[in-house]
Amino acid sequence: MEFFQFLFDTAGYPARWHCGHWTPFMGWLHILSDMTIFIAYMGIPVTIIYFKNRFEYLKINYILLLFAAFIFFCGITHLNDAIIFWYPFYNFSGFIKLITAVVSILTLIVLASKMPEIILFLNEKLSSKSLKDIFEASSQGLMIVNKHGKIVFANQVTAKLFDYEQNALIGHVVEDLMPESFREKHVVHRLHYIKKPKKRTMGITQDLYGQSLTGRIFPVETTLSPLKFESEDCVLCSVVDITERKARDDELQLSNQTLEKMVQDLEEFTYVASHDLKEPIRGLHNYSRILLDENEDTLTEDGKKKLRMFLVLTQRMENQIDTLLKYSKLGSERAANTNVEVNDMIQDVKANIGYLLEEKNAKIIIESNMPAVMGEKQRLEEVFLNLIINGIKYNQSTTPTITIGVKDEMNASTVHATFYVKDNGIGIKPEHADKVFTLFKRLHLRETYGGGSGVGLTIVRKIIENHGGKIWMESKPDKGTTFFFTLEKSKVGK
Ligand code: ADP
Repeated sequence: MEFFQFLFDTAGYPARWHCGHWTPFMGWLHILSDMTIFIAYMGIPVTIIYFKNRFEYLKINYILLLFAAFIFFCGITHLNDAIIFWYPFYNFSGFIKLITAVVSILTLIVLASKMPEIILFLNEKLSSKSLKDIFEASSQGLMIVNKHGKIVFANQVTAKLFDYEQNALIGHVVEDLMPESFREKHVVHRLHYIKKPKKRTMGITQDLYGQSLTGRIFPVETTLSPLKFESEDCVLCSVVDITERKARDDELQLSNQTLEKMVQDLEEFTYVASHDLKEPIRGLHNYSRILLDENEDTLTEDGKKKLRMFLVLTQRMENQIDTLLKYSKLGSERAANTNVEVNDMIQDVKANIGYLLEEKNAKIIIESNMPAVMGEKQRLEEVFLNLIINGIKYNQSTTPTITIGVKDEMNASTVHATFYVKDNGIGIKPEHADKVFTLFKRLHLRETYGGGSGVGLTIVRKIIENHGGKIWMESKPDKGTTFFFTLEKSKVGK
């Protein structure tokens, strides 16, 4: 109490107006200037305190508060100087100056010692600003979330996606952007993630949903990447609304399922129909043979000729039905996944058709060392056999030559190997390129080039596709044809 009285004791001091010879102008110049400085100095701490919450996460928060206190006391000293013109409380004024001096020195010490940290902080602020500018320019929804799950930055796209004003998103926890039922679980995921943050995408394998401010729920895909933002460990989240994509995928999946079912039904139908047709055709064939044998003497030459034709046709029909049966069986077969040594397999094929090579004066050249592949040996043998025989069959050269090889044999990085079987035969016109793979389609008359049923290449394609590969051809009429096909390289020994 005594101290208080002492502070405001003005005895012994004249008011400043009466100390010296003040002209009113000079006196008011001091008073008004001191008052203006006081008002301005009060404004600075008020502004700092008003915006303090926005700087909550800044590490230089307490320096700002110290600075606010320093300015505040400076302001008070100016106010005192103005009041002293009428009320000479020099004791109080001196005491306030002492406090101002202590706070100033404190501010100076802290500022000087923390300057490197402040410069670093400001630099980070600047780089964060550029980061924000970059994120703002992105057409993708991007937001930065701190380790407590709070949004510290969200670009305009994100705000629009969730129907928020851009700044209104700041301070929300990410769970606010999800449907109620996801929130609790997400907090657990988030806490788990923040312990070991790494780049990962969510919403692909598991359904993830966002909820906008207006309550609209939509599927999203997010990618998370750890990021340093304004000196804090944060996570950058990209958010994509996948409503359209999901609808498309669902539609595609549905039509794939329908298509698969249709193909399966068709294969079953072909199998059953061919199987059931086989019996009566066999019967027709047998009965017409009996008819021919037993009535050899009574039948006219024309009648016999017609019956023989009938036999040929029923035999062809039976063959075609057999082919259909084989083809439909292939359709439902998944190729077994064993290790097949292509080099050995080609040697086996070569040995099997030794007679043909000799008869046609044909030769097989193996151009490269074949990689082993994944598949079913018996079926793959059928592929090489068909292509080699066709190369020899549709060939008018005196030395039909089949060259077999693999493209990019040295490229170990590819999963599939591309094989080729090339001949120096008659070639195929470009307009027939697709037709050759069609069932029962021949490009020549039935009996020419050794005859055939137009089935070989259809079966070859089916086998390759059942192995997960593709087949295509390149050809020049009169120059030759090259068939290419891909097969998965063997994983054995890798
Ligand atoms: P097929 O040989 O029994 O007639 P494919 O399905 O094997 O049946 O072949 C279909 C048609 O494609 C053949 O009739 C032939 O006209 C043509 N073709 C196939 N391979 C070759 C080839 N290497 N060179 C030229 N034409 C070919």
